[in-house]
Amino acid sequence: MSKPTKYVYEFAEGSRTMAALLGGKGAGLAEMTGLGLPVPPGFTVTTEACKVYLATGQEPPELGVEAAHALAGLERAMGRTLGAPEDPLLVSVRSGARFSMPGMMETILDIGLNDESVTGLAKASGQERAAWDSYRRLVQMFGRTVMGVDGDLFEAAIAAHRARRGAATDHELDTGELVLLTEEFKDIVRKETGEDFPQDPAEQLARAIRAVFDSWNGERARVYRRREHIPDDLGTAVNIQAMVFGNLGDDSGTGVAFTRDPATGERGMYGDYLPDAQGEDVVAGVRDALPLSELKALDPRAYVELGDHLRTLEAHYRDLCDVEFTVERGRLWILQTRVGKRTAEAAFRIAHDLREEGTVTADEALTRVSGAELTRLMFPRFDVKATDQPLAHGVPASPGAAVGAVVFDSAEAVRRAAAGEPTVLVRRETTPDDLPGMIAAQAVLTSRGGKTSHAAVVARGMGKVCVCDAEELTVDPAARRFTTSTGTVVREGDTVSVDGTAGTVHLGALPLTASDVGRALERGTGTGALTEAVLGALAHADSVRRLEVRANADTPEDAVRARALGAQGIGLCRTEHMFLGERRALVEAMILARDDTARAQALAALLPLQRTDFTGILQAMDGLPVTIRLIDPPLHEFLPDRTELAVRLAGATHPDLHDRQLLDAVERMHEQNPMLGLRGVRLGLAVPGLMAMQVRAIAEAVVGRLRAGGQPHAEIMIPLVGTVEELRLARAETERVLAEVAAETGTPLDLPIGTMIELPRAALTAARIAKAADFFSFGTNDLTQTTWGLSRDDAEASFFPLYLEKGIFETSPFETIDQEGVGRLVQFAVTAAREVDPHLETGVCGEHGGDPQSIHFFHRAGLDYVSCSPFRLPAARLEAGRAAIADTTDTSDTR
Ligand code: PEP
Ligand code: MG
Repeated sequence: MSKPTKYVYEFAEGSRTMAALLGGKGAGLAEMTGLGLPVPPGFTVTTEACKVYLATGQEPPELGVEAAHALAGLERAMGRTLGAPEDPLLVSVRSGARFSMPGMMETILDIGLNDESVTGLAKASGQERAAWDSYRRLVQMFGRTVMGVDGDLFEAAIAAHRARRGAATDHELDTGELVLLTEEFKDIVRKETGEDFPQDPAEQLARAIRAVFDSWNGERARVYRRREHIPDDLGTAVNIQAMVFGNLGDDSGTGVAFTRDPATGERGMYGDYLPDAQGEDVVAGVRDALPLSELKALDPRAYVELGDHLRTLEAHYRDLCDVEFTVERGRLWILQTRVGKRTAEAAFRIAHDLREEGTVTADEALTRVSGAELTRLMFPRFDVKATDQPLAHGVPASPGAAVGAVVFDSAEAVRRAAAGEPTVLVRRETTPDDLPGMIAAQAVLTSRGGKTSHAAVVARGMGKVCVCDAEELTVDPAARRFTTSTGTVVREGDTVSVDGTAGTVHLGALPLTASDVGRALERGTGTGALTEAVLGALAHADSVRRLEVRANADTPEDAVRARALGAQGIGLCRTEHMFLGERRALVEAMILARDDTARAQALAALLPLQRTDFTGILQAMDGLPVTIRLIDPPLHEFLPDRTELAVRLAGATHPDLHDRQLLDAVERMHEQNPMLGLRGVRLGLAVPGLMAMQVRAIAEAVVGRLRAGGQPHAEIMIPLVGTVEELRLARAETERVLAEVAAETGTPLDLPIGTMIELPRAALTAARIAKAADFFSFGTNDLTQTTWGLSRDDAEASFFPLYLEKGIFETSPFETIDQEGVGRLVQFAVTAAREVDPHLETGVCGEHGGDPQSIHFFHRAGLDYVSCSPFRLPAARLEAGRAAIADTTDTSDTR
């Protein structure tokens, strides 16, 4: 018989390897308990219990007994009883999922307080005010979270008391005021729910656990999970832990500490401390915290001890850790730890430093950074002149530069973002309810809260620009404006620039300059801690990756840039872009040609232009492969719009003959589904002379470059092949022209001729196609369109948002390769082709070639290279390196 499921684990029973069951927080508490750190005792209700609850609407029947048993153990360990009238034990109830979701789910503190035990606590602690403050917090938190009372009602009651007392902060409310406030809170609960605030501690605990389960499916949590690609079915664990108090006077306090600076990665203990404060005050940014360094003067012993614990944790986890801690009357307690979130800048610097310190290997250091982070660092920064006076200074909470229209609430940010307008969300401080607006906005600016406030933590996690605590600003959301200390008024819709690196806000749109990292990447060298860390990580990635990285580039300028950014060639040069602009007239002439002579003339006019294009690109990529794809899109894309032409002709008194002919051609060539029409190889086979002209231009460019002493490596690629017969015919024509040019110039031309695999039929018949191809390049854009039977342009605009919301798509299959469907076709084709030709070169040139998750897949599928837009090259190199490491260690987490 299988063992019955165990739903409750005491901290001492778990470890960090059990994060799936105990959640990240529970696993961390268990691990710290095992390390002998001063963790208040407690127990964890597992994610399995949550899953049962979410599936059935009921807790598993065993949970009650197991929790009661664990609680009894906790009571014994503490020598106190939950909610007892004398010296009560109080507990906190906190969510904790497998992946950190800061602020997204519920926490309830001080469970166990009621009308009687509040007096017991006051007596036992000698802190009457603190006891009542805790009780009123419990009624407030429990009322809002568990009983569903509108939190604003409590806030309004507090504000009224403050106003009556002329108090600026809650801190100034005395015991009498807090007793009255608690009664008012209980009245609010009764009035709003028809139920009294529960006095029974066991009932409080059970309902709090259930509320945490429920919060897994709260709006905030669901939005966050979708954004972070966290599966919906993991459920959350719940941690029940003995309360310790930071609000017992000047020798107490609470704080957050990091083993290094999570914003810059700088070495050294870092954080915030709030004396005489409790629980979530620091994270909520309700009062301004002190820098952690001030604890040194306030309580040197606690400071030193904290430093020791941080070092223990960092050495143990071998990574940046953060902790929440409380000092209760000079005694230090560690309440939580995890591997800390960090900015992109900090990620690179910390990985680099840990490697230099010998804590991690070069391979491990590479797993600690990501392509997405690297891309973020390549973004431009503001070009600030000495004369640019900021509107305000604040805490630089999340680096980068952003320009946008000021908005004062989440809904407005979302509305404007939907209309394509960049915004800056300005709040006094943010709460989890602001999450949709934070996602929609370019930057977040708050007038309160520190580096560990909600705004700062969430923005950093998202890689959003954020400036906090810009206290010179008076934010008035009701009037939709903010005022600076010098009286400047900024209204909703006005443009501001937010510098998250410097912590400044400027009126208007400041000019942007490239980032140091971006510049260093283009040059391949640079100085400064961050630049060195990035270049070091990339150098290691380059040394371990198996995948080559090429660029999609159609012009010599792009090719030069791509080469600087590390391209090992061009994987896709789309030739149709060369038919636009002034050349359109020549393409028109070719299409309208009435006979072979006229067509040959038009093509002859295009030939030297194409030759010049190819020469420039081959020169820029001298010595490296350049895959040139013959023209792909339907020719009518080069003709004017049918309706416009028709209107023009109808309105003309003397209709233009050329326009008339054009309209005839447009009507003749009109297709219902052009993406499935006369395009790709079909075009090359159907339009006489077109393919020959392109091949000749390539061949002549190669000869020209050879004569100039260059090393051109052009490869000719045939698009949209569905059957090997098409490729055979196209290949024969290509070889004929190559032989012709070779004979004319006396230069042997042995250019590889390959094909794109971008139709399911091509993938399925890859073994046959491989016989006629020198290489394969997967066009995963078309392969995705044709496998799913959906048009990217139409679908993305119409039903994609719905599909993402409903969870049908986790991410767009056009961004990240659909491994189960499109990916299987790729894998099948590679395997089949390699059986025919083990050395057949294979790559991918669709958009997926630059997507981190897809790159890991292509590595595993055994492709030789990925090709992507130039700006994505550094990230692609990095991810290709990470993919190679993941392959050997199998521990990568690409999410
Ligand atoms: C593709 O289909 O993936 C591809 C690279 O070609 P295009 O996007 O030009 O159709
Ligand atoms: Mg294509």
